[in-house]
Amino acid sequence: MRIVLLGAPGSGKGTQAKKLMDAQGVPQISTGDLLRAAVAAGSALGRRAKAAMDAGELVADDIVIGMIRERLKEPDTDPGFILDGFPRSTAQAAALDEMLEALGQPLDKAVLINVAFDNLVKRLTGRRTCTACGQMYNVYFSPPKVPGICDRCKHDDLAHRADDNEATISNRLQVYQDQTEPLVSYYRDQDKLATVDGEGEPEAIYARINEALSQ
Ligand code: AMP
Repeated sequence: MRIVLLGAPGSGKGTQAKKLMDAQGVPQISTGDLLRAAVAAGSALGRRAKAAMDAGELVADDIVIGMIRERLKEPDTDPGFILDGFPRSTAQAAALDEMLEALGQPLDKAVLINVAFDNLVKRLTGRRTCTACGQMYNVYFSPPKVPGICDRCKHDDLAHRADDNEATISNRLQVYQDQTEPLVSYYRDQDKLATVDGEGEPEAIYARINEALSQ
């Protein structure tokens, strides 16, 4: 399974990618996670990326394309992968096609998770992630059973991402519309686009994604 999850910030790509990863045994590759790790480690790459991330802008194509090129060399991607948050521009999509063509492993599908624009802000401001196991919550829609405690691993640090604040969110949504949404027609033209309704419970959305992938 080699797929791309497409969708606006807050559409649930990360949540669904983790479910697919657990079920299919293929890695979730999130450029956002890779970049946040580079920033936290204080690497040269992280220092180059940080200003763009704080502003909700896209990090330069050469940085993220290079990261994906390296990541796809890891043997755990042999059975496939779920790309989450990459590609985000037409240049990135074209670079990905080129890389996969060279490997003789073309993309199977791009799955667009469709969420009404008005619902995205609340989904982003309410988002929390367990710093120990990565389980995601939303304080408005899917809170942990005990506030502040992870249901899955019982860790007591559910973090709010620095760029999930209202000022940065509106820029991220604008950047999505301007630079990433054109990928919907990019993959439609390749006959690889599947669109699923991203509203409702995560389990219901997951069922829709599996249905779309089986077609
Ligand atoms: P995410 O976790 O996917 O929402 O990404 C967080 C931030 O990382 C984005 O707002 C961008 O600044 C940066 N980022 C993640 N993936 C990419 C990408 N494919 N291209 C450029 N910037 C990215």
